[in-house]
Amino acid sequence: MSKKADTRELVESASQPSADMAGAPEDFFKMHLTQLRRAMSHSPLEDHVRLILSEPKNEVIVNFPVRMDTGKFELFTGYRIQHNNVMGPYKGGMRFHHDVTLPEVKALAALMTYKCALLEVPFGGAKGGIRMRPREYSRTEMERITRRFTHDLGNNIGPEYDIPAPDMGTNSQVMVWMMDTYMNMHGANDKNAQRRIVTGKTLASGGSRGRGKATGQGVVYCIQEWADEKGFRLDGSSFTLQGFGNVGSHTAQILSRLGSILTAVQDHTGTIHNPQGIYPRKLIDWVEETGGVAGYPGAEEISNEDYWKVECDICIPAALELQIDEKVAKDLQCRVVVEAANGPTTLAGEEVLLERGIEVIPDIMANAGGVVVSYFEWIQNKRSESWQLQEVDSRLHFMMKRAYHEMRGFAREHKVDNRSASLAVALDRINKVYVERGVFP
Ligand code: NAD
Repeated sequence: MSKKADTRELVESASQPSADMAGAPEDFFKMHLTQLRRAMSHSPLEDHVRLILSEPKNEVIVNFPVRMDTGKFELFTGYRIQHNNVMGPYKGGMRFHHDVTLPEVKALAALMTYKCALLEVPFGGAKGGIRMRPREYSRTEMERITRRFTHDLGNNIGPEYDIPAPDMGTNSQVMVWMMDTYMNMHGANDKNAQRRIVTGKTLASGGSRGRGKATGQGVVYCIQEWADEKGFRLDGSSFTLQGFGNVGSHTAQILSRLGSILTAVQDHTGTIHNPQGIYPRKLIDWVEETGGVAGYPGAEEISNEDYWKVECDICIPAALELQIDEKVAKDLQCRVVVEAANGPTTLAGEEVLLERGIEVIPDIMANAGGVVVSYFEWIQNKRSESWQLQEVDSRLHFMMKRAYHEMRGFAREHKVDNRSASLAVALDRINKVYVERGVFP
């Protein structure tokens, strides 16, 4: 059977039991298709919509050479996967990481389609990236890699067509290099109209206030809604974080201002623990100075395995996918898992969590703050406006809250878990548009 037929079948067979994936070696894209299939059984779709969503619309792969500081050349592989644009231009992050693979980027692109639909952001879904270890390259090498990648993507991206943003291993500086390269590839007299080719830029170069912290802010808005619903006091509660980059560090700062105490952090350099609390601001300074959380003087180091056993109220994975598997799910001692990262929980892991009564706030809901404020940045660039932080935050709050309650309302009404509910709400919106518009020709 061809690979295409295989993935389509996974999505099409919504009525089949889903246990087939549980326990199998987890492949992120296949895992996503299984989650989708479960959601589809609660949100009936037209057959053609099912088919369309089973594969990305476009898969762009570029191999390009870049001169290193030594004068030698390296060849890089870059991806841009455009999953669906029925709701608006393709939108999604660019990831620079050594684990970037085609199936991973396909899954991440699909998640963007559903995230935007759930939040009613008028964008479709895309994702891209380069398979590389960004920490091993100098700033000048990073700039050349980014610029050459942007150049080689050519018109496969565009301000009304496909709009990249930061993700793991990329930041506002990388976005500004992408923007500048794209602007220079286009006519001198409409250069500025191209600024919204990327979002997540620095404020000085056309970014939005509040974009840096947006994903973390959105994570915290979700936690507040969850706490309100459960009658749970955040003041005096505890949380742990895997990942202390953009999303993790902002989540830590904002959540700790509500009185919640950060007790353990894991990143690529190690795991630290302090039951009395870790100051997020001090840890940010330490990470900026040393490159990671390891060795932070205000906490003791524990093993990476022990991280998942640390007792807490809120467990926040904010790094990689497929982290909470069956074993980790059995170890976790928390009330709720809030997926700040994309795809951090495996199918088997989620089954265990739900059996144990640990709630999961799924990725497309929990980390949607980033794309919401990216949308605000795009609008501001388009209208030559500059919004105040208060306006950004209050609009973000409104959209996160609305989507959260739509997800919870669906989950209660249909007696399903939050992941199926969030995907089902999104699928229903996409299905309606396809039914109204039909399929060309
Ligand atoms: P980042 O590059 O700023 O930070 C990544 C963090 O993960 C770092 O602290 C790094 O040390 C840690 N990490 C890497 N490998 C690890 C490992 N093996 N074990 C433990 N920790 C490890 O990335 P980010 O932008 O914060 O993104 C984190 C997650 O959030 C990703 O899943 C991303 O897709 C998702 N996300 C990001 C945004 C955004 O706006 N940046 C929006 C939505 C979702």
